[in-house]
Amino acid sequence: MNKRILLQTGLVLALLFGLAGGAEAADKVKAIASFSILGDMVHQVGGDRVNVVTLVGPDGDAHVYEPTPADAKNLAGAAILFVNGLGFEGWMDRLEISSGFKGKTIVASTGVKPHTMVEEEGGKEETITDPHAWQSLANGKLYVANMRDGLIAADPEGKATYEANAAKYLDAIAKEETDVTAALAGLPKERRKIITSHDSFGYFGAAYGLEVIAPEGVSTESEASAQDVAKIIRQIKAEKVPAVFMENITDHRLLDQIARETGAKIGGELYTDALSGADGPAPTYLDMFRHNVGTLTSALSS
Ligand code: ZN
Repeated sequence: MNKRILLQTGLVLALLFGLAGGAEAADKVKAIASFSILGDMVHQVGGDRVNVVTLVGPDGDAHVYEPTPADAKNLAGAAILFVNGLGFEGWMDRLEISSGFKGKTIVASTGVKPHTMVEEEGGKEETITDPHAWQSLANGKLYVANMRDGLIAADPEGKATYEANAAKYLDAIAKEETDVTAALAGLPKERRKIITSHDSFGYFGAAYGLEVIAPEGVSTESEASAQDVAKIIRQIKAEKVPAVFMENITDHRLLDQIARETGAKIGGELYTDALSGADGPAPTYLDMFRHNVGTLTSALSS
């Protein structure tokens, strides 16, 4: 009798620990993603084998992020780190060094054809690399392939899982690409001009045929000067730009002012450098595209 109770208690304890997932979580590959868009993509490719921690979360601005001691601790214990590259995460090198990270670093944008822009800084013209490559789904497919290969290198036993997950995800991205291209192809030529607050839509514009103008440069680090704003206001009036779009990661006041002074309509909010929270309209990379394209087409088609 006593023996049987002990046995049952043992079973119950084993079940409790099993359900709590303590052992299971410890077995997962510990991955870090620098920002929310990469975090979702790594999660899609890694599936149940990978535990992903995202440093810059939903609606966060990775251009100007300041890492926390908790980030350093997470990174120290991680097997693999995913970054965008192209100069996006200027704070990452220092964090990697200070955390003592010893895992593999995967640059998701490897193989992307970089888009450059000429920006004026203190009267001097500078060529700047645009980091927002994820805003083209063709580039998104390169990101997924790099993530798959990185995960296989870090965890060879998971090869079949990563290949299957990536293949399924690549199919979904390809389908979304067809839908996005078709939706935007329907816009009249003279309405294919938009304003965003920082220059985050260069790859998007090039891929899907939109002209994008922004008072701030490719980073949110420097604010638009009064001259930049005056120049954009003249440009919007001269070129009859139909709509301005807010971004989830930036302050809305500048674009409110621009819309007021030009009569351009506010077309809605685009998710540019970060996803929304789980309850928002853009909790995944593909949801972000659906939301952005829906917002653009409804504002620009009439
Ligand atoms: Zn940006």
